[in-house]
Amino acid sequence: HATKRTMADHLRKYESLFTLTPQRMRMIVEAFKDTLELGLSKPNQVVPMIPTWVFGWPTGKETGDYLALDLGGTNLRVCLVTLQGDGKFEITQTKYRLSEEQKQDDGQKLFDFCAECLQTFIESNTGDDPGQLKPGQLLPLGFTFSYPCTQDRIDHGELIRWTKGFGAPNTEGRDVAEMFRKGLEKYQLPVQLTALINDTTGTLIASHYVNPKTKIAVIFGTGCNAAYMERVGDIPKIADRGIDGNAEMGINCEWGAFDSFEHEHLPRTKYDAIVDDTSNKPGEQAFEKLISGRYLGEIFRLVMCELIDEGVLFLGQNTYKLEKPYCFDTAFLSLMESDPTDELLMIIGIFTHFFALETTLAERQFFRALAKLVGRRAARLSACGIAAIVSKMGYLDEGCSVGADGSLFNKYPGFADRVHEGLVDIFGDRGRNIVTYHAEDGSGVGSAIIAAMTKARR
Ligand code: ADP
Repeated sequence: HATKRTMADHLRKYESLFTLTPQRMRMIVEAFKDTLELGLSKPNQVVPMIPTWVFGWPTGKETGDYLALDLGGTNLRVCLVTLQGDGKFEITQTKYRLSEEQKQDDGQKLFDFCAECLQTFIESNTGDDPGQLKPGQLLPLGFTFSYPCTQDRIDHGELIRWTKGFGAPNTEGRDVAEMFRKGLEKYQLPVQLTALINDTTGTLIASHYVNPKTKIAVIFGTGCNAAYMERVGDIPKIADRGIDGNAEMGINCEWGAFDSFEHEHLPRTKYDAIVDDTSNKPGEQAFEKLISGRYLGEIFRLVMCELIDEGVLFLGQNTYKLEKPYCFDTAFLSLMESDPTDELLMIIGIFTHFFALETTLAERQFFRALAKLVGRRAARLSACGIAAIVSKMGYLDEGCSVGADGSLFNKYPGFADRVHEGLVDIFGDRGRNIVTYHAEDGSGVGSAIIAAMTKARR
């Protein structure tokens, strides 16, 4: 009969499944570029390349008090931002937890809840001290709503579709700015919704405010998305809007949708296919599902489940706790990769504490290696997206900075290095001209700056 395979043998199989060669990456970049162009040329494409109606870069001289509300995934956040006018700012913020039920409950209720949190925030930040709000002071608000919306102007946006596990009914196809305004009226708040933005656009603007070399912003959080600044003349689908072709406008790529439905360009494993099939939106967000924080832990868990079924892992133990979808957070992958001990004590801790499972050293070494494969693939695929924008815009020779944010970028050890390695694999040495860095807070500061830029245009 067959000889027993070692963990190292199993690992080799996953290595070949999850590894992306430079050649493959360059093919993805080419397909990605075509997809970006298509989204700019026609409306309603898979990657929609959404015009944001944010015109050009901030001057750094924007000033004043602004509220920012961020509905983006895991938390709801309210900020008071004071722009001081020389690329500097102050910010006060509070986070409110969103329950899974709220994400699936009626849409208007969700926006009413946003208004309720805003009311609580305003009440607790009003007073006579400097830096506090004055009673009754009318404030412009930037609303960061990080789901794909089509916008005809900056203070309006129709939700195309929910992503990142949201599914609140009666919202898709509707103007979410208007829904939120209804909530503001219900609570009679002294607030004017000035700008509806996406977190990527906010990140782009906030990062440029403090680092003018920034040309691209990317979010690596619950979801994955990017924004950059485009010449209006190169956005054929808005050619009839009578805007000067030399003006510049931010584009929210919504690149998480790349390769959706067709699955032609990205290397999907059977674990990715399961994640997709069992998600609340099968077929959609194909790129995001290989990269973002919401899914990496689940991909990892599905590999573990396969090896449990094959009788390879956790022999003789009850693994029911691992069988629950999404029970394995991407943060565990970070923790496993950063375990500094030879015995891999951190990994022992994760499995005993959260899953009541004992592990052998060989299993733990395998887990660490597997985390690396899943995390590295995510970073290299992200590099393909960044490379597509860089190459399309001709930023390679002069170089540029990429403002990046989100827990995956900020907390996953080595993620940024792997993106940089990926860029060098794609472009050769010139890839080093493209540098990612931890972005400024887009949904707070960025939202405020955009609200200020909007006010100035009026
Ligand atoms: P947002 O919901 O606004 O995108 P984050 O940027 O914090 O918020 O992203 C949340 C996602 O990041 C979750 O999917 C979570 O699993 C993942 N995450 C949280 N902590 C870590 C970590 N230490 N390492 C990797 N991923 C993490």
